[in-house]
Amino acid sequence: MENYYQKEIECADREQIQHWQDERLVKQVKHVYENVAYYRKLIEEKGVTPEDIKSREDLHKLPFLTKEDLREAYPYGLMGTPVADCIRIQSTSGTTGRRVVAFYTKKDIDLWEDCCARAIMAAGGTNEDVVHVSYGYGLFTGGPGLHGGSQKVGCLTLPMSSGNTDRQIQFMTDLGSTILCCTPSYAAFLAETIQEKGLQDQIKLKAGIFGAEAWTGEMRKSIEEKLGIKAYDIYGLTEISGPGVAFECSAQGGMHINEDHFIAEVINPETGEVLPDGEKGELVFTSITKEAFPLLRYRTRDICILNREKCSCGRTHVRMSKPMGRSDDMLIVKGVNVFPSQIETVLLNNGYAANYHIIVDRVNNGDTIEVQVEMTAEMFSDSLKEVAAREKELVNALKAMLGIYAKVTLVAPKSIARSEGKAVRVIDKRKLY
Ligand SMILES: [Zn+2]
Repeated sequence: MENYYQKEIECADREQIQHWQDERLVKQVKHVYENVAYYRKLIEEKGVTPEDIKSREDLHKLPFLTKEDLREAYPYGLMGTPVADCIRIQSTSGTTGRRVVAFYTKKDIDLWEDCCARAIMAAGGTNEDVVHVSYGYGLFTGGPGLHGGSQKVGCLTLPMSSGNTDRQIQFMTDLGSTILCCTPSYAAFLAETIQEKGLQDQIKLKAGIFGAEAWTGEMRKSIEEKLGIKAYDIYGLTEISGPGVAFECSAQGGMHINEDHFIAEVINPETGEVLPDGEKGELVFTSITKEAFPLLRYRTRDICILNREKCSCGRTHVRMSKPMGRSDDMLIVKGVNVFPSQIETVLLNNGYAANYHIIVDRVNNGDTIEVQVEMTAEMFSDSLKEVAAREKELVNALKAMLGIYAKVTLVAPKSIARSEGKAVRVIDKRKLY
């Protein structure tokens, strides 16, 4: 038996969904035009007026928004309502200068939690369940989003937050947690720890809702086997609300996008041209119900495919594939956004040349990052102590920039192979896509 939170919406026919989208889009464009000066300027530069947008068919006339816009408009430039109407902010895990702050009215929070509630019920959740939320709480959307959704379903909600694995496992066994919400890498770590402690028999989990980072089908299988659960994918981003923008159902064949709140497009990342369903491209979202942070045509940089085939779960909303990569060079390491350009800046500021490799890997289900960089001829030294001191200095400088530990290995001048054309500087061994 498939489980729904809002069946009449989740299983609505296509005409009904399109009707909601058309009506809400027209209203949203007016709202943004009247209240968000930053975006109004972009619309005007394109020579478009709100009257030109009569339905989804006209969506392509509107300009895109990018993460750069969000940074430029930081902090209040894209706010759609007065501060007096907002009750919350959440923020991306981005590093200094790259943070995105999103605002929520009471209604925005309500609808976001509805989306998370849909995900929990699609994973089999009912008010009999004990939902163990091990996503981080705080600025990060993971904890607050699933927490709110869990309460809406009426589940007993455990606000565990991340870390302190022994305590997590103790609560899990003592209280009989049945649904686990966290990143897939933390789920894998919990699964291993539970096995090591020989506590598999005392675990009552039946499902997991895992997102906020890329994970493979193999990893899903391994977590499912070790914990004896069914593992569901969930997708979201702070800019658009948080987790629950799309979620997986029992079919485990792509994530249903909540189309009554978000219009999804897939574009050619080079040209911006909208691609037909079934073609691979960059995912773009327009939030049609958000009040405080109403983004139109926001480029996610995630590469994926949309699928409108009938789903066995009965839901009618379009499905997106798991992201297959990113259209920019951003890496997500330990849940933190890392841009190679940030690393390069640190190296150059510390007197190194741009001859380096960034090696990202996953060891025991945790991400690792190493920066190998050439010393200049002047720096080159036989003294191991001197080299170690230089490495330590760079580790600290990288930590200050990225917010995470990166191993540093200094190598001899001219030892990193020069490439012709575009240098391959990032080696991602994680095989996540
Ligand atoms: Zn489905």
